[in-house]
Amino acid sequence: MLKIHYSLDQKPADSIRDLEPPKVLNISVRNLVLKTKKGSVLAKGDLVAEHPSPCGGACHAALGGKVKAVNYHSLTVECSGGAETVEPVDVASMGKGSELIRALQELGVDVSPLSGRAEVLVINGLNPEPGVSVAQQLLRDGGEELRAGLDMARKLLSPDRTILAAPKGEAVSIPGAETVGIRAKYPYSLDALVVRAVTRKEFPEHTRVINVMDLFDLGKVALTGLPVTETFMTIDGHNYRVPVGTPVRHILEALELNVEPGDTIVLGGPFRGESIYSLDQGVKKEDYGMFITSSDAIPEVQDAACMNCGECVLQCPARVQPHLISRYAEYERFEEAERYGLNSCFECGLCAFNCFARRPLLQYIRFAKAQIRAKGQGTKA
Ligand code: SF4
Ligand code: SF4
Repeated sequence: MLKIHYSLDQKPADSIRDLEPPKVLNISVRNLVLKTKKGSVLAKGDLVAEHPSPCGGACHAALGGKVKAVNYHSLTVECSGGAETVEPVDVASMGKGSELIRALQELGVDVSPLSGRAEVLVINGLNPEPGVSVAQQLLRDGGEELRAGLDMARKLLSPDRTILAAPKGEAVSIPGAETVGIRAKYPYSLDALVVRAVTRKEFPEHTRVINVMDLFDLGKVALTGLPVTETFMTIDGHNYRVPVGTPVRHILEALELNVEPGDTIVLGGPFRGESIYSLDQGVKKEDYGMFITSSDAIPEVQDAACMNCGECVLQCPARVQPHLISRYAEYERFEEAERYGLNSCFECGLCAFNCFARRPLLQYIRFAKAQIRAKGQGTKA
C-alpha cells in the first residue's frame, strides 16, 4: 500500500509580520456568553464574551471601536483606530491558586491544561499541520514569552519533569525544559501522539500538554497583564500576527492574494481546518493558518455512499473505525457512534483526506460531538 508522509518540518521563511489593522472586526461569539451589546463602545482588550465551560478563555476586542451588529455567529466592531486600551491585571504577582487561574481565564487563556498538579508537563513544539510553521517560528523568536509562559505553567502545575517535544534535529530549547526530538511527520503533532512519543505511554495519568502557541499567549499575558487578542497564522508561506476577528476579506486585500471562483478558503490547516462560509468571516484565536485551495487541486467532498474500501481505518491513528462512526453520525445515531469510538477520535482529519468516496468524515464526527455536547449526553469528556 502506498504510504504518504506529511512533513511538519516547515522552517519559518523570515520574521513574524504584522498585518495592516482592519477597519472592521467580526468576532466569532458562537457558543459563547455575550458580555456586550450593539451600540457599546469598546477599548482594545475590553471583554466581549465569556466561555461557558469552567476552563475556556474569555474573548476580548482586539481593537477599539463601536459594536455595530450582533448575531448568533459574530459581533461586528467598527474600529475607531483609537489607542485606548484596558488596564493590565497584575497576574505575575498573584500566588498560585484559584484567583490566578480565574484571572488567566478572564484574560483569554484556556486554563484546562493548567489546573491541579501534574507530574509531567509536555510542551508540544511541533507545527500543528503540514504547511504551517507558526510553532517553529515561535520556538525560534518567542524566547521571552515562552520563558514567562513556562514559568507560569510550572508555578501552577509544579511538575516533576518538563519536556519540550521538538522536531528531531532542531536545536531548540526553553530554559527549564528538557528537549526531546520527535518525528516531524503528521499526525505526530497531535497532543495525544506527542505525549505517547515522549513518555512511551498512551494517555498517562498526571500528564499535561500545552502547545507552543498557547504557551506563548500565556507568557504574554504573564508579562503584560493584558488579554489575548491576536493569533499567529501561516499565510502564503509567511507568519503573520493577526488581530482576532480580522475578516478574511481584509487579509486577502492586505496581502494581495487572489481567489478564483470555485476556490475554497480554509482557516486552520489542510487536514483539520474549516472552510469559511463568507469572506467577512473573522479569524479566531485558535486559527493558525489560512489556505486557498483550487477545486482543480482537491476534489470536493460530497455526501456519497461509503464504498467500504477500509482506507480510513488503515489511516486512523486512534485505531477506531471512521467509516462506521461517520455513518452513525450522518444519521444522528450518536449513541452508536460513541460505542464505536467517537470520543477516541483526535480529529486529525486523515480519514476524510484519504477517503476515496470524498465523504466528509471529519465533519460528520465533529457534528456528532457538537450535538452530543449541546444535548449534554456525552458518556466521556
Ligand atoms: S479524524 Fe478520522 S482518522 Fe483521525 S482520529 Fe478521528 S476517526 Fe481517526
Ligand atoms: S475511506 Fe471512505 S469509502 Fe473507504 S471505507 Fe472509509 S469512509 Fe468508506
